[in-house]
Amino acid sequence: MAEKRDYYEVLGVSRDASKGVIGSAYRKLAIKYHPDSNPDDEQAVEKFKEAAEAYEVLSDEAKRAKYDQYGHAGLGGGDGSQFSSVEDIFEAFGGIFGGGGGGGIFDSLFGGGGRRTERSRRGADIRCDVTLDLEEAAAGCSKQVEVTRNELCDSCDGSGAAPGAVRESCARCGGRGQVVQSAGILRVQTTCPACQGSGSTVANPCGDCRGNGVVPKTSEIKVNIPAGVDDGTRVRIAGQGEVNPQGGSTGDCYCFIRVREHQVFERHDNHLVVRVPLTYAQFVLGAEVEVPTLKGMESVTIPSGTQTGEIFRVRGAGVPNVHTGRHGDLLVETRVEIPARVSAEQEELLRQLAQLEETEVAPERKSWLDSIKEFFSGTEADE
Ligand SMILES: [Zn+2]
Ligand SMILES: [Zn+2]
Repeated sequence: MAEKRDYYEVLGVSRDASKGVIGSAYRKLAIKYHPDSNPDDEQAVEKFKEAAEAYEVLSDEAKRAKYDQYGHAGLGGGDGSQFSSVEDIFEAFGGIFGGGGGGGIFDSLFGGGGRRTERSRRGADIRCDVTLDLEEAAAGCSKQVEVTRNELCDSCDGSGAAPGAVRESCARCGGRGQVVQSAGILRVQTTCPACQGSGSTVANPCGDCRGNGVVPKTSEIKVNIPAGVDDGTRVRIAGQGEVNPQGGSTGDCYCFIRVREHQVFERHDNHLVVRVPLTYAQFVLGAEVEVPTLKGMESVTIPSGTQTGEIFRVRGAGVPNVHTGRHGDLLVETRVEIPARVSAEQEELLRQLAQLEETEVAPERKSWLDSIKEFFSGTEADE
């Protein structure tokens, strides 16, 4: 996870900035990175959230004091943003843009409707799942995925009305699509439950969609998966969610990525680990060994005197970071390989070595000789 930026830096204000200065700095950023003027731009969304989080802290005297004294740590909690979605930000700060009910500056700048209405009219998001090999995850790929989602009903073209029938203004909300509910001293405006926000109802509904205007359909969509995704990464496919028959924008499809385990490489974020068995002689004398990478074999120098478990790095031979494109490394982990069987000549040399090193080794065993004999009789039979 990226290091959290300083809140004053985020808003581009000095540490002694007044509340007014902080508010206007935030308003400028919020307008610049507003999702409506940066459609499908994930980076703008991140900036928008970052600015909102900074404003949330610096506009609150108590929080600001804590932040000044202790930094991010003073605010407690994890390092995740306070706001999980853009909608949360509108819920929290709709008011600072002037006007009640989330209207004001956003409405006038982005051509009416307001975010709240847009939100209630927007089609639902859907999810799909894709399982990839490590190679596909590292290089990026495109996949055809089947999704089942509500699509406009062909029979009524989304109106929900039977042929000839017309929609009438909703009696419950008077056609506004919203009702005001009181909860204690709070008065909350919510979507009308009678018409689901559409503002109209139909007495004679379409038989195919039972008046919903939408029917579930299975479609195939193309998912472009960027290089570097990992197990658990979520890829957003804008506009591939559900439609809303009352108009408004289509929801998004979130594709959840699974990455299969690889038989050679172990992934640690953007680094890959490969375990390479070497002989005692290679550890002692050094060697030039071929190791596998995602793009084929690569030569790695093992210096003389290497200890078992030592790790060698092949820079840039890992997986790219999905956001920055910067590649991780391949970590070559060495380990000594003990042969299960050795030839008579190898054994002789090893015994000499043990003698030179004055180390105790087990004496020759009958079973050992028997196995050598078996080995030789086996090779003779092949010829
Ligand atoms: Zn229909
Ligand atoms: Zn209604």
